[in-house]
Amino acid sequence: MNVLGSGGLCRAGVKRTGMMMRGEKQGAVELVAVSKRYGDAQAVSEVDLKVPAGAYCCLLGPSGCGKSSTLRMIAGHESVSDGDILISNRNVTVLHPSVRGTALMFQNYALFPHLSCLDNVAFSLKMRGVAKAQRQAQALELLERVQMAAYKDRRPEQLSGGQQQRVALARALITEPEVLLLDEPLSALDPFLRVKMRAELKRIHHELGLTFIHVTHSQEEAMALADLVVVMRGGRIEQTGTPTEVFNRPCSPFVARFMGGHNVLKGRLERRVGGFSILQGPGSQTYAVPEFSAPDGTEYEFCVRTDRVRLARGSDAAPDADNVIVAAVRGVEYHGTQLSIALDSEASDEFTVVTSDRDFAQCPVAVGDRVVAMWDVEDAHGLGPTPTRRENVLRESQPRGEMDYV
Ligand code: ADP
Ligand code: MG
Repeated sequence: MNVLGSGGLCRAGVKRTGMMMRGEKQGAVELVAVSKRYGDAQAVSEVDLKVPAGAYCCLLGPSGCGKSSTLRMIAGHESVSDGDILISNRNVTVLHPSVRGTALMFQNYALFPHLSCLDNVAFSLKMRGVAKAQRQAQALELLERVQMAAYKDRRPEQLSGGQQQRVALARALITEPEVLLLDEPLSALDPFLRVKMRAELKRIHHELGLTFIHVTHSQEEAMALADLVVVMRGGRIEQTGTPTEVFNRPCSPFVARFMGGHNVLKGRLERRVGGFSILQGPGSQTYAVPEFSAPDGTEYEFCVRTDRVRLARGSDAAPDADNVIVAAVRGVEYHGTQLSIALDSEASDEFTVVTSDRDFAQCPVAVGDRVVAMWDVEDAHGLGPTPTRRENVLRESQPRGEMDYV
């Protein structure tokens, strides 16, 4: 689909100049062992990543984990300390930002305050010497695409945050990038507008077929938007996958906690029975998890989705079954369609059960009640042996963000 008339952006990133072979996909991004150091501080460590052409990729992680540094290196606004960046199979590591085929939309939009919307959007074409009538026509077309044509003569201060965001998006798109880079593009918006603009971004991505790389610390945003979620931690990639893979099969306790919606539990390997490994929890509880091979006594972590746990009124006696914990209700939060129930137990400091309002009505509980929480063995997802002390020391030495969970 052509959005800028002849010679404009088109779906699936098929190039309009004759430089690439016909039909060849443009906009694939590859990072090869990319690192970034600021003085002594290691912000990004040997990141390897392949983003297919036309994908919507979200770099997700806590504050300070290296997302923006990675994005700025792709854009060319930050130098690469080590490694290579390839865009459409071309090594762009030392190229100027303007010739990489990327456009970066800044977190604060960075619109020129003294220029109208139209002139803001047309600005980079002006710098390239495009005639006024042509650049204004292209800018207007893009303002229409982001539903801002009616505001073309206003200055940024006369616009709401959401409107400024649309203008910034149009301004980034006018250079006809193969890759659009967005740094926390929704973070300045109120929650209602954020969800609305999220849908707009998805629509525009679908219509243009460009590669989008979007930095966010919101797992909800990443899951709603991305084809490819890249979870970062301490300057490294912790896990890459589709939203379903990352949510349902987290590779580590960090990812399980960061994505949310999971209880992380641990126990020591006792024995194997019928395709399962049996763990002894910290108290009297035992857990059955998918079988893994490790020496007996190995401490192992696994997770169970908060919405896969059932609650029943209980007594103090632990039932004689795997995957059952006895607990006391610490808190009940109402969220409209569902309720979140926090439990105190020997199994974990943080254990949450999420139930539908209908299920809650069947078994209402209140703070202080004794309950048993239980789940099916197939809902336990193994996360691996707990790191040894030495591995923990290595993890501690990585740069850590203020929201680092583990
Ligand atoms: P994120 O976007 O995930 O919050 P950043 O990439 O901005 O993370 O930062 C990663 C780390 O690099 C942080 O520890 C941050 O303080 C540091 N950092 C970022 N930019 C600079 C800079 N220009 N100079 C020095 N340190 C920086
Ligand atoms: Mg950032």
